[in-house]
Amino acid sequence: MGGGTKRAEDPDAPLHAVALELLGGVGPARKERLAVLGIRNVHELLCTLPRRVERWPEWTPLANVRALAAPRPKAASAEEEALDGDDEDGSGESLRVRGGIVRFRFSRFAGRSLVRATLGDPSGELDVLFFNQPWLRERFRKGDELDVLGRPTWAGGPAFVASRLGFTDSPLPAPGTLTPVYASTEGLSQEMLRTLCLQALERFGARLHEPIPAAVLAEHDLPPLPEAVREIHAPTGELQFVRARRRLGLEPLLALQAGIAARRAERKRTAALALECDERLALELERHFPFEFTRGQREVVRELREDLARGIPMRRLVQGDVGSGKTAVGAWACLLTARAGAQCAFLAPTELLAEQHFRGLSGLFERAGLRTALLVGSLKAAARREVLEGLESGAIAVVFGTHALLGSPVKFARLALAVIDEQHRFGVAQRERLFDKGRDVHGLLMTATPIPRSLALTIYGDLDVSTLREKPPGRSRIETRRIQAPRDLVELLEPRLERGERVYWVVPRIDGEEEDAPGAEQRFARIAKGPWARYGVELAHGRLPSEERGARLERFRRGEARVLVATTVIEVGVDVPEATAIVVESAERLGLAQLHQLRGRVGRGRLESACYLMGKRSAAERLELLERCDDGFEIAEEDLRRRGMGDLLGLRQAGENLEGLDGDGLDLGLFDTARRLVAAQPGLVERYGAARPLS
Ligand code: ADP
Ligand code: MG
Repeated sequence: MGGGTKRAEDPDAPLHAVALELLGGVGPARKERLAVLGIRNVHELLCTLPRRVERWPEWTPLANVRALAAPRPKAASAEEEALDGDDEDGSGESLRVRGGIVRFRFSRFAGRSLVRATLGDPSGELDVLFFNQPWLRERFRKGDELDVLGRPTWAGGPAFVASRLGFTDSPLPAPGTLTPVYASTEGLSQEMLRTLCLQALERFGARLHEPIPAAVLAEHDLPPLPEAVREIHAPTGELQFVRARRRLGLEPLLALQAGIAARRAERKRTAALALECDERLALELERHFPFEFTRGQREVVRELREDLARGIPMRRLVQGDVGSGKTAVGAWACLLTARAGAQCAFLAPTELLAEQHFRGLSGLFERAGLRTALLVGSLKAAARREVLEGLESGAIAVVFGTHALLGSPVKFARLALAVIDEQHRFGVAQRERLFDKGRDVHGLLMTATPIPRSLALTIYGDLDVSTLREKPPGRSRIETRRIQAPRDLVELLEPRLERGERVYWVVPRIDGEEEDAPGAEQRFARIAKGPWARYGVELAHGRLPSEERGARLERFRRGEARVLVATTVIEVGVDVPEATAIVVESAERLGLAQLHQLRGRVGRGRLESACYLMGKRSAAERLELLERCDDGFEIAEEDLRRRGMGDLLGLRQAGENLEGLDGDGLDLGLFDTARRLVAAQPGLVERYGAARPLS
């Protein structure tokens, strides 16, 4: 598309391939501004969703505007007062006035030019202020009729700051006209966007075609694409606009679902190791674990058995609240696979977690005669070489590790199963990289950030989903309370420490100067100097070399330090059953799902546990939800509602191009519609799958 030279336009080219430069007024600079908004071709311009639609108001008599203008006490001068809050696109609570010019004068203020025109209508007179439009001085004539959109202000007297101006020979839209309001960006005004969209509509609108059959559209009450695009940029009514927006909102969702469907079809064509496992063998494998599986774990194991026996690569997502015992399920699948003579990779997002899985599970595998290894970035060269050799020769049956497992030097003799823990921390592309290390690898993904099942199905459409709802027996509810000041905690925590229990003290930032919001370093220094020094205090955060961090965590695990001050590095996975209390400072900095994850660090053994949250008043409402609710699903749903989907699913973090999928206007029902449309019409896979690859 790039190139810069204007080519003759191919009338059959899909609009995705039509360069923006073909539009009048678009050169390299403007093209760059448009790219900031994610608009790179004519199709994307036409599908640009306005935020809302605005109806041009009726005129307000000048005397009524005078009555609305009130002096603001703090401004130093009349002009400063008027400048303050001057907004560009004339949106918000704009009023509209009209009248003849009685007189006007020009001045400068704070580097800005100001034209002040006094308008008159039968109700009275009003000063209208035009900032930064010095040319108006030449244009205005006494007696000219002006039509102005703006807002009341005070500039030594009642006045009006203009944002849009119409003359008799270049009028503003009539009252009642609807105008779309776009998400504009610096250097690209609302006016410019509107003009470009209308131009694109006029020249290319006829080339849009609707791939969805009319009957299906009717069923969902959606307008066809060409009509929707017209309604979006030149709305004829609010209701039509909303319907059109829903149709256009479907476009990125169709692309997402098409990508998913393409991957699924690809997978179905391949053949994977078929792992037979009857009831007897399933139970025998379970006996390798130091506990009996819960009913929920057994249910997931049954689903895994079916998946793995099929000879098609498995793609299963196990979602379960923190502490529901997902690791054991993953390990069970590894045991089955490794005993059949194939290799397994167990991937975790942090070294801490990978090491912990390795430490916790290697004994179990070794006792079954299976060699295990750990592969993380901080491994010394010699040790690393040994692991790589063991994987390539097939001597190592199960490898635990981090992103280091994804690198190209890592080769397997016969990788058959990849378990990906905390999978939302990885992008689709990263997952696929691991799957590509073997022929037709089975994939088991695990996450403790549960999302509603229907949503999981539509987003991770190429995954089957299992849900672990129940927790292992003997878990007590974690009492959760908001705490005002650290000193209130002494009484609450002291008895625990005295009994030998452990306490996590989480501070989101590593450094922090403020007295009431210290960083982890400062909090650690204060506690370590205080009376709790006798219990042993440790500090862990992301800036420490991982070896050092691991050693400190180990001291905490063994009880040599009973207090661990840490950042959110301990958020996922860390499993120390003797830890019975967690304190989170500055909780307003963290999302609900994240706080719930942190809370899951305690309550892992049979000991009664507690979570204490400290945070700004602004977070009170969110923290209250945590106080009364310990269902990760409910919390995740609330988080979804509040923060938009990208964050929750880690999609943005994984660098995936899903803009437009999150935010306030998200309509979950549309997700499902997109999924069903793509399932019913294979043609859509080709059309949308190619337009916007997922990874
Ligand atoms: P998560 O789902 O958060 O990854 P884990 O797999 O870390 O949870 O399990 C949490 C704790 O529960 C671990 O200490 C684990 O050993 C223990 N656990 C798992 N399954 C069972 C079970 N069936 N019975 C008793 N304890 C279990
Ligand atoms: Mg886990």
